[in-house]
Amino acid sequence: MPELATQTQPGENGARRARPSLLATLLNGVLSRDPKQRVRIGRSLLATFVYAVGWLLCEFGLRRWQLSHAGVRVYEVTSLLIALSYYGALRTGWNMRFKDPSLTGSQIIAAQFSGALFYAVMSPVRGAMLSLQVIILFFAMFKLKLRGQLFISVNALLVMGLTTTALGLLWPQIYDPTTELVHFIVLLTILPPVSLLGVQLTSMRAKLHQQKEDLLKALAHIKTQADRDELTGLLNRRCMRDMITHHVKLQSRSGEGCSLALIDLDHFKRINDSHGHAVGDDVLRLFSQEVRKVLRETDLVARWGGEEFLVLLTGTHVDQAFTAMERVREGLDAAAGPQQAPDLRVKFSAGVAELMPMEAMDKAIERADEALYRAKALGRNRTELALEPVLVGGTPGTFSASSASGAA
Ligand code: GH3
Ligand code: MG
Ligand code: MG
Repeated sequence: MPELATQTQPGENGARRARPSLLATLLNGVLSRDPKQRVRIGRSLLATFVYAVGWLLCEFGLRRWQLSHAGVRVYEVTSLLIALSYYGALRTGWNMRFKDPSLTGSQIIAAQFSGALFYAVMSPVRGAMLSLQVIILFFAMFKLKLRGQLFISVNALLVMGLTTTALGLLWPQIYDPTTELVHFIVLLTILPPVSLLGVQLTSMRAKLHQQKEDLLKALAHIKTQADRDELTGLLNRRCMRDMITHHVKLQSRSGEGCSLALIDLDHFKRINDSHGHAVGDDVLRLFSQEVRKVLRETDLVARWGGEEFLVLLTGTHVDQAFTAMERVREGLDAAAGPQQAPDLRVKFSAGVAELMPMEAMDKAIERADEALYRAKALGRNRTELALEPVLVGGTPGTFSASSASGAA
C-alpha cells in the first residue's frame, strides 16, 4: 500500500533525504513545483470550480425548469474549453512568455463572456446570475492595473448590455424586454461603484508597492552602512568579526586553513601633518583599492581602525599570506600616489597569523598584532609572521604563544 507520510532515505554522505509523500507528489503533478505557478494554477482551478458549479446547476435546471438543451450544452462545452485551455497554458508554462504570467486579463474576459452565456442559459433564474459579473470584477481589483480595470468594467457593461438587448429582442417570449432592461440598469448602477472601489484599491496597492520598494532600498542602504566603512567602502570592524566567526565555523567543517593579516600604515600621521587630512583620507582610499585589487575575491578586507586594516585570507597558510602581503607592497609601490601628491608612496607594516583549529578569533588577532608590533620595531615596511600558539587544555582560546615561526 502506498504511504502518505513523508519518508526518509539515505542520501549523499549518509545524510537522510526526505522522500515526498503521495499527496505531495500528486500536488506537484497537478499544480507544478514552482510556488508561483502553483498559486496561478490554483486561482485558475478556483474559476474551474465556479464553472463546475454552473454545470451542476445546468443539469439541475434541465430537469427542473426545462432549460434549453442546446444552450446548456453550449455553456458546458465553452466553459470546459476555457477551463482546459487555461489549465494547459499554465501547467505547461506557456504563460511565462507573457508580461502577466497569471493571464489575468484574458481569464477575466473569458469569464465575463461565459458568465453572460450562463445568464442566458439560466433563463428563469437569470437575475441571480447578475452577481457573477460583480464577483468577476472583484478578481480584477486584486490583479489588474488601473487601465486594465477600467477596460474590464466597460467590457462587463458592453457584454451584458449586448446580451440583455439581444435576448430581449430575439426571444421576447422567454426574456421579457422590460426585465432585461431592469437587469441591465441594475448592472449599470452596481458595476461603476464597484469599479471605483477597485480603482481606489489599485491606487492603494500602487502606494503600498512603492512604499515597500522605498523601504527595501532604505534597508539595503542601512545594511550597507552597518556593514561597511564609510570612507573606504571596506567591511567595518563589527561585520568583519561576524564574517571571521562564520568562516571559522565553515573551516572547522571543511578543514581548510585560513590566515589573518593585520596591517598598519607607516608614519601615517606624517602624511596627515605634511599634506593635510584630505590627502590622508585619499591615501586610505587608495590603499583600500590597491589591497582589493591585489587580493583574491574570496579574501575579506576590513578597516579595523584609523589607518589599520585586517585581512582574512581564506584557504591560505601563513607563508602564502606572507607572499600575499608582499604582493600588496609591490602593488602599492607601482601605484600612483593621491592626486595632490602623486609621488607619495604608501608603506605599511603587517603581522600575519594562521588561524589554528580550535583557536579563538581574538587570540589569532592578538598574535597578528604582536607580529605587527615586531614589524614596526624592526624598522617598518615589512611583514612579520606571528608566533605559533601552543594549545593549553584543548578548548578554544586556551592557546599561549610560544615559539616564533620566523620573520621575513
Ligand atoms: P606608525 O608608523 O608607528 O604606525 O605611525 P603612524 O603615524 O602611522 O601612527 P599613529 O598612531 O601615530 O598615527 C595614526 C594617525 O592616523 C593619527 C590619526 O589622526 C590618523 N587617522 C586616523 N583615522 C584617520 C582618518 O580617517 N583619516 C585621516 N586622514 N587620518 C586618520
Ligand atoms: Mg595605527
Ligand atoms: Mg600607522
